[in-house]
Amino acid sequence: MAAWELAKAGHSVDLIEKSNVMSATSSASTKLLHGGLRYLEHGRFSLVRESLRERAWWLEAAPDVTQVIPILFPIFQGSPRSRWTIKLGMVLYDRLAGKFGVGKHRWMNCDELLEVIPDLKSAGLKGAYLFYDGQMDDHALGLWATEQAKAEGVTVREHTRVDRITADGSVEIQGSQRQYDRVVNVAGPWVVELLKQSGLPHEYDLDLVRGSHLLLDRAMNYGLMLNARTDGRLFFVLPYKGKTLLGTTEVRQELNEPVACSKSETDYLITAYNDTFDDSIDQSDVVSSFAGLRPLLKSHKNPNKATREYRIEQHEKVITVFGGKWTTARSLAKEIATKANNQPA
Ligand SMILES: Cc1cc2nc3c(=O)[nH]c(=O)nc-3n(C[C@H](O)[C@H](O)[C@H](O)COP(=O)(O)OP(=O)(O)OC[C@H]3O[C@@H](n4cnc5c(N)ncnc54)[C@H](O)[C@@H]3O)c2cc1C
Repeated sequence: MAAWELAKAGHSVDLIEKSNVMSATSSASTKLLHGGLRYLEHGRFSLVRESLRERAWWLEAAPDVTQVIPILFPIFQGSPRSRWTIKLGMVLYDRLAGKFGVGKHRWMNCDELLEVIPDLKSAGLKGAYLFYDGQMDDHALGLWATEQAKAEGVTVREHTRVDRITADGSVEIQGSQRQYDRVVNVAGPWVVELLKQSGLPHEYDLDLVRGSHLLLDRAMNYGLMLNARTDGRLFFVLPYKGKTLLGTTEVRQELNEPVACSKSETDYLITAYNDTFDDSIDQSDVVSSFAGLRPLLKSHKNPNKATREYRIEQHEKVITVFGGKWTTARSLAKEIATKANNQPA
């Protein structure tokens, strides 16, 4: 998205990717184009408003690989948040979306709810809020954005690792150097590594938190946002391409550790599912799993509460992005393009 926005602003852009475009974090998301209802709890109103506006843009710009999906948030006796707290969140979510809304929330009583999700465990069930969010095929959407960038004149160089960058705009690849007017470091979880190996300073830092998902061989019509019974964490059960996407987890890790769904994460997700539905699952229902490393802005001890906001840091000709979300990739890219137009300090 940064390459596309920079090209739109009239720059000549090389996008340099060590592997294939869309081979890392951006293909391993929960696939939601969303404001992030839970970020309201942490007072991130401007992030939510920005994300809801961007959600509408994606849905309109790339309708073949995005869609609106209905999501239910069931409330049980003893749920960590009361019905009225959730109601307040739902009202705020609709208000912050304003004219970019994709459907207003409403309350569903138990009978209505069990009609659409018959195997939801009904003990202590009070009902659910129904709301709407965007869903994407993240891999396909990223490839779509890459094609838009190419059409705008961006040159994409895959299987090309950047070894070092310098503050005055030089990029080193396998011993040879090329000079640029600006270098934008959007290497996701690897941004700090690239700065470190380049000997460049950085004010912000990242927390790397793995999130895993399971794809289940089950079809469903509604998504669900749920609290895991074991630890109260929020997780999603979403319809995805005729199957069910179940996730996610939060495991802090180092960059050099494998980014893959562990046995304990699989067990955690299966338990969370079975604690919620009567029709239980086991390993044989899992078609596949995938994991991604969230490049979170280092700001909070609990990754669940860590901000999904981003920071853009400029050091002479090098612009680095820390954190962010898929949903806000375009607005982030616009900020990068604005920064790139300014003379470096
Ligand atoms: C589990 C999980 C669930 C998520 N769910 C959502 C969601 O539902 N909605 C949402 O909006 N956001 C979500 N996110 C956040 C979102 O996916 C990320 O913020 C976003 O994908 C990060 O994109 P990126 O381009 O910064 O990183 P990446 O997609 O990782 O891209 C960085 C690229 O840089 C390349 N690279 C690294 N080092 C070098 C180098 N030296 N030279 C050349 N290339 C290099 C890598 O190969 C990689 O392709 C989720 C994230 C995770 C992990």
